[in-house]
Amino acid sequence: MTMRNKLVVGNWKMNGSRPANAELLAGILAARPFAAADVAVCVPFPYLAETAATLAASNIRWGAQDCSAHEHGAYTGEVSAAMLFECGCRYVIVGHSERRAYHAESDQLVADKAKAALARGVTPIVCVGETLAQREAGETEAVVKRQLSAAIHTLAHCAGEMVVAYEPVWAIGTGRTATPEQAQAVHALLRAQLRAATARADEMKILYGGSVKPDNAATLFAQPDIDGGLIGGASLKAADFVAICRAAH
Ligand code: PEP
Repeated sequence: MTMRNKLVVGNWKMNGSRPANAELLAGILAARPFAAADVAVCVPFPYLAETAATLAASNIRWGAQDCSAHEHGAYTGEVSAAMLFECGCRYVIVGHSERRAYHAESDQLVADKAKAALARGVTPIVCVGETLAQREAGETEAVVKRQLSAAIHTLAHCAGEMVVAYEPVWAIGTGRTATPEQAQAVHALLRAQLRAATARADEMKILYGGSVKPDNAATLFAQPDIDGGLIGGASLKAADFVAICRAAH
């Protein structure tokens, strides 16, 4: 079996301020090194430059939480992948369930954003996940496969370059985590779908997200197809985020 380095990514969402960010990043920097785990923070756009300056000399990466599917032009309010690359972003989250829900992002738009990111050298973290109603209706597999399939087909021969994040919507910000077994079952399905599409499937990272905390991270990360986490609420406190990064090895 291929060994995959774990990856832990903080998703700050629309949180932070210059003083709070400085304190949080200082706390993360002070806790290094994180053994075998790669660590990144995805911050609001206005903080990218400062984050880059703070983390530049470290091995902590940074990224954004969304990007445009377009290259440039008359798209007021949007931010292009090229701009993110210029700001040193290694990653960009695309298709987070909050954007799918509140900004009506379709599977195809998410896939187009992932393609735009890859074209500019920024690794897309493509989020998939079912709602509670979909889980209860037995639709989990169909939903996540449909979401991932759009990205696979649009990225084509580059599909192996994306990071996938499985985030059950019912577990995001709710304190209700998928059990390690529930998460692993979906990760295994996603891995199988990736294997059918790319020879690189066994090297690809599939992150779990949804109320990951210091006390549940280690058992989640111990699952064979869980390659790390996308961390929301717990990424805003240095001690919690650091503990989660340490649980990844
Ligand atoms: C997220 O929004 O990506 C997330 C996983 O949030 P939380 O950890 O707060 O559930």
